[in-house]
Amino acid sequence: MKINENVKIKELTTMRLGGLARYVIELETVEDAEKAYLFAKERQLPVFILGTGSNVIGKDEGFKGVILLNRIKGIRFIDELTIDAMGGELLDDLVAFTTKKNLSGIEALSAIPGTVGAAPVQNVGAYGQEIEQVLESVHAYDLKEEKYVTIKKEDMNLGYRQSIFNQGKDAGRYLIISIRIHLSHDRLTPPFYTSLQSYVEEHQITDFSPKSIREMVTEIRWSKLPKPEEMASSGSFFKNVYLDDQEAERLRNMNVPVWEGNKVPSGWLIDHAGLKGKSFYGMRVSEEAALILINESAQSYAHLKQAREEIVSIIEKKYGLTLKQEPVELE
Ligand SMILES: Cc1cc2nc3c(=O)[nH]c(=O)nc-3n(C[C@H](O)[C@H](O)[C@H](O)COP(=O)(O)OP(=O)(O)OC[C@H]3O[C@@H](n4cnc5c(N)ncnc54)[C@H](O)[C@@H]3O)c2cc1C
Repeated sequence: MKINENVKIKELTTMRLGGLARYVIELETVEDAEKAYLFAKERQLPVFILGTGSNVIGKDEGFKGVILLNRIKGIRFIDELTIDAMGGELLDDLVAFTTKKNLSGIEALSAIPGTVGAAPVQNVGAYGQEIEQVLESVHAYDLKEEKYVTIKKEDMNLGYRQSIFNQGKDAGRYLIISIRIHLSHDRLTPPFYTSLQSYVEEHQITDFSPKSIREMVTEIRWSKLPKPEEMASSGSFFKNVYLDDQEAERLRNMNVPVWEGNKVPSGWLIDHAGLKGKSFYGMRVSEEAALILINESAQSYAHLKQAREEIVSIIEKKYGLTLKQEPVELE
């Protein structure tokens, strides 16, 4: 494992904010998880687990502890349809691998930034697929009990952008070493999620093989989403809003779209509040996807905080709904 000191968090996170981390340890083997944890424990320092930082925001004061970066690599078949992938692999590399093998289950998760190890944390999803649909279990290092454990999907409490790994008393407790997924020889069938369906119709596509879906999703995504290496962002900055029946009715009466499960798309709210393309303290609401905040020139977390508060307040005044931030804060 590699130990680095006084590392800029802004260089480890795609929003490119944040002060110094006291230590950053890159894990390269399964055993490194325990060794790195003991390194922190001996020094009585807190631990934060990081992948590629595409859903984490650094703070100006930095982190006076140890950041553990999962860089453990490897993908292997357990049987014809079951795969173990190490947490340090990029999720998109895993999707490329499985689609090349003509296997279905994660092809619509193409081009989502981040590592395999982070995928179960917020139950990554796109175009109607979520990692939950194929996940069987994860192998993890339990920082509380100081031992390696296997956690079955049923025990992960997976939901919309949430799991035991980021919510509740066990948030941050497990360092995910690898995941086990079970894929299939099936094909996705139309109708697809809106933008994919439009693409299929416009280009008269009839090939819905995993490889073809991957190519379409990748093209659609990068036509409207900021590439982390080109523009600083954390992808969707606000979560969609889920309402009870009474609130859903109130919003419908305001002509706000309320989708299945009483879900209100936050991007629609931001767009219809006229905020697309507007800049707040160096943070710009993307013109292409209103849910995305791009860090154009903000140098500090304080700027992001001000921008967030202003947007939240505008939406509260207009719709009576409080938007919640999706990315977690490194603290
Ligand atoms: C342009 C863009 C587009 C995006 N599009 C989508 C999308 O379509 N759908 C979607 O769901 N997300 C999307 N995201 C968010 C992000 O890609 C996902 O949340 C991704 O899973 C984060 O991976 P990461 O390795 O960067 O994790 P990080 O951002 O480093 O960490 C995210 C969380 O996971 C924890 N974590 C990371 N690795 C581990 C591990 N090995 N064990 C335990 N905990 C861990 C961290 O502590 C943190 O709480 C997008 C982000 C960007 C920048």
